[in-house]
Amino acid sequence: MHSSQRKKLESLKQEIKRRVEKAKQDFTSLHSADWSEQVTERENEEVLEALINEGEEELAQIAQALGRMDEGNYGICASCSEPINPERLQALPYTSLCIRCASEKS
Ligand SMILES: [Zn+2]
Repeated sequence: MHSSQRKKLESLKQEIKRRVEKAKQDFTSLHSADWSEQVTERENEEVLEALINEGEEELAQIAQALGRMDEGNYGICASCSEPINPERLQALPYTSLCIRCASEKS
């Protein structure tokens, strides 16, 4: 039923994984960079850290979404148990909240 969404999630997962791996590599190479580049280094560090954190957060949400798919709960709001708008699922395939609950939360 959700096979196309599953494919989408799987490829999104691979994409984010690659992005996080790349950011981690950059992060490591930053630390071996020259002392004279310290200032830019620190800025880059923050950007990379944000990238890594964001990516890992997304990966966790994707893993959850795949888990809900296995349980047959995919596309159901985790908060109010109402079906999530299909357009929202298209745009944000790993969301666990309907648009109403998501906007209440933020
Ligand atoms: Zn809801």
